[in-house]
Parts: sequence; C-alpha cells; structure tokens
Amino acid sequence: MAPSSGPDGARRRILAVANQKGGVGKTTTTINLAAALAEQGRRVLIVDLDPQGNASTGLGIESARRARSSYDLLVGQEEAAGLVQATAQSNLGVIPATGDLASADVELVEDPARARRLQRSLRDPGLLEAWDYIVIDCPPSLNLLTVNAMAAADAVLVPLQCEFFAMEGLSQLLTTIREIRRGLNPGLAIEGVVLTMYDRRNNLSDLVARDVRANLGDVVYRTVIPRNVRLSEAPSYALPAIVYDSNSTGSLAYRALARELLERGARAAA
Ligand code: ADP
Ligand code: MG
Repeated sequence: MAPSSGPDGARRRILAVANQKGGVGKTTTTINLAAALAEQGRRVLIVDLDPQGNASTGLGIESARRARSSYDLLVGQEEAAGLVQATAQSNLGVIPATGDLASADVELVEDPARARRLQRSLRDPGLLEAWDYIVIDCPPSLNLLTVNAMAAADAVLVPLQCEFFAMEGLSQLLTTIREIRRGLNPGLAIEGVVLTMYDRRNNLSDLVARDVRANLGDVVYRTVIPRNVRLSEAPSYALPAIVYDSNSTGSLAYRALARELLERGARAAA
C-alpha cells in the first residue's frame, strides 16, 4: 500500500468537485457526499473554494466564524489546521469561504507559482494524517481557484445535471483536466461523474442519463441523485440533508454514492 493511501486503501483522498456550470449540484454533492462519508466513520474536511460560500452557509458557519477562511489558506498560505471550523457532525470539518476569495486571482497575479498554492497547503503530511478525505467545493468557473483545486486534488468528481445541455461544457472541463495533467498535476484522475437532479417523471432525465452513459461509460456512477426538495431545503436549516432528513430520497442517494465511491477506491487499490 502506498504511504499516501487512506483507510480504505483509496489513493484518491483529495477530491475536487468541479463543473464550470453553475447550479448543477456541486455544493449539494460536496456537502452530502462528505456528510455521508463522515457518517460512515471517515474524517472528512470540506474546503469551500467558492467566493459565494454556499457550502459554508449550508453547514451553518455564520459570518463570525469566517474571520479566517480559505482565502487565508490560498493567499495567506496559512496552515490549514488552524482554519478548520466544526460542523454538526463531529468528524466533518470545513474551511469556510468568504467573498474576498473572488479577488485572489488578481492578488496572486505576480506569483509564478500561483496555481500551486493550494497544492502546497494541502499536501501537508499532518493534514493528510488528520483527515481521511478532503473535498473541495469549486466555483462555477475554470478560473484560478478551480485550477488550484485541480492541481491539489487526487481526482475530480463531476456533478452533471440531468438536463438537455448536460454534456455541453464537459469537453472544456475535460480539456482543462488534460492540461492540468500535462503540467501541474500528472496524477490527476477523474473520480467519477454523478448525475444529479434526476426526475423520474420526466422522460428527458432518462434520455439524458442514457446519453451520458453511452458517451462516458463506466466513469459515470451507477448511483443517480434524484431531484428531491429535502436536498434544497436542508441548507436553510444549516445542516446536510443527510442529517436534516436522514431518510429522504436525496439522503439515501448520497449515502449510496458514498458507498460506491468507497467501493471504487477499494477496487482501485486492489
Ligand atoms: P452548484 O454548486 O453547482 O452551483 P448547487 O448544489 O448549489 O449547485 O445546486 C443548485 C440549486 O439546486 C440549489 O438551490 C440546490 O439546493 C438545488 N439542488 C441541488 N441538487 C438538488 C437535487 N438533487 N434536488 C433538488 N434540488 C437540488
Ligand atoms: Mg456551489
């Protein structure tokens, strides 16, 4: 087993949840996949890398607890361990985001290694010892923030909304991943593609799901995340849906996704 392997033998421990489209379920997936992994006994750290801070809000991190944030991690190069805030789950932590993250690309323009700043911060043996998984919630763009996340990650997890233009933009995302592999992070894998907001009453959802599977094959998770109002309500209660309504169809789906991710990790390690 490689020294960097996690408890599941998984070599992919830092995950960037990315898709440059907004509203496809990145933040919902980050929160609930992380919460489901935490529920299954893993120690999980979420890094909120979206200046909108939706993951931080959804986890109940009020502004008083955002004085220190992922901005300090990226721009200040502060030690990650000192920036972690607690959540409702004891083994789920978060480094919250604030709006000042939006100007990071301008502030870092003079740093020739600006794309590697998060990589430097997260590839810290102490941090990797403390957490089994680090899940990075990316902004809806392929900007410097997302590039930093992909440079730091072992793998990219792509939420894809079951809608007509689902595949549109995906080739651009895949091109970016290839470019990152060529330079910043040769080992970057694609963890998987997860179909979100699936509506079984809508034929289009089914059509899109089949089309995506036909195009992308096994990289698409068997688990599909249904459209479920509990998933969209939970953030206003400052809780993951997994905690807010443990038996909702959305929670069950994210739990299944977590299991599938762990199985894939175990298989990859075998
Ligand atoms: P992104 O982070 O990609 O912008 P979000 O996770 O914030 O996307 O989701 C966009 C909106 O859709 C949010 O209001 C969220 O609550 C809602 N949403 C996400 N996934 C689902 C789902 N499976 N069912 C119902 N609503 C969802
Ligand atoms: Mg988001």
